[in-house]
Amino acid sequence: MKLTCPSCKEKINPKDIKNINKNSIYVEKQCPGCNTWFSLNKRLTIIKTLGISLLLITSLLNIFGIKSEYSVVFSGIGFVGVLVALLITFLGKNEKVDKSSN
Ligand SMILES: [Zn+2]
Repeated sequence: MKLTCPSCKEKINPKDIKNINKNSIYVEKQCPGCNTWFSLNKRLTIIKTLGISLLLITSLLNIFGIKSEYSVVFSGIGFVGVLVALLITFLGKNEKVDKSSN
């Protein structure tokens, strides 16, 4: 899946990205064409993290049989969580990261 640089609108093959900053939950990547740093929209990143957390929590509840009468509900919630996370991964817009503000 190709990314689009928010600055130069160039399509970037993820393999070509050499600089990735994973110091926070907001993974920042550097465009190999124009050297602009960009990351997924921060609000979307939070929702994505929540979605994955939901899947983890509901899976754990099911594995340990906690509130097993709700296991179908937990599975449903977990499924929605991972679906949201996937949608954001594939459709989420990248934004420029203002390095000077850090
Ligand atoms: Zn660029």
